[in-house]
Amino acid sequence: MGRKIGILGGTFDPIHIGHLRAALEVAESLQLDELKLVPSARPPHRDAPQASAADRLAMVRLAIAGVAPLTLDDRELQRASPSWTIDTLEALRAELQADDQLLLLLGWDAFCGLPGWHRWEELLTHCHLLVLQRPDADAEAPEALRDLIAARSISDPLALTGPGGKIAFVWQTPLAISATQIRQLLATGRSARFLLPDAVLTYIHAHRLYRASH
Ligand code: ATP
Repeated sequence: MGRKIGILGGTFDPIHIGHLRAALEVAESLQLDELKLVPSARPPHRDAPQASAADRLAMVRLAIAGVAPLTLDDRELQRASPSWTIDTLEALRAELQADDQLLLLLGWDAFCGLPGWHRWEELLTHCHLLVLQRPDADAEAPEALRDLIAARSISDPLALTGPGGKIAFVWQTPLAISATQIRQLLATGRSARFLLPDAVLTYIHAHRLYRASH
């Protein structure tokens, strides 16, 4: 059987315990061989990240040091132009064995916005979608996704087989932490301790990131 590889994209501006716990819990419960954190360049419909690509990469590297199976994949920041998720999946697929399983992690909100993504209907030819759902959520999927969910979803993510094509839901309570909150704390001179790994916070201070003067 092939390897099971998860993908979690984000700006990671900065990476925090919310990302790390979510990634680790999914990796453990789904018995992933690897979970790739993929920092993105400026995402469409969002402000540019405050920290540079080099700083965001350095912070992810520090956060996951020694934490198998989390790994850093810097391909989206190596490209000159912003990358679409479909491009990243195609590039990854080209490197993998045909029976390796790719699982793209998406929060419920991101999943609901899928019909606005570039070539979104092709995503499932390369991967499974793993939708992180809050246990207390009672959200309805948008109309545009209902047929897809009916046709592609399976109830047990551990029963996913094959390289891709299915949608599974993982019920997980996210920690109430966001990078926005951390940037605001730091910009106003308050402590962000215990919201992100100490090594990342030390890096932030050493490189004077997220200060009010930025
Ligand atoms: P910002 O506050 O700048 O919008 P963020 O904290 O939401 O940032 P992102 O880099 O945008 O972080 O998130 C990357 C991925 O991690 C997204 O899929 C997002 O849904 C998920 N994520 C963010 N925060 C948490 C959290 N506290 N728990 C679980 N997943 C999270």
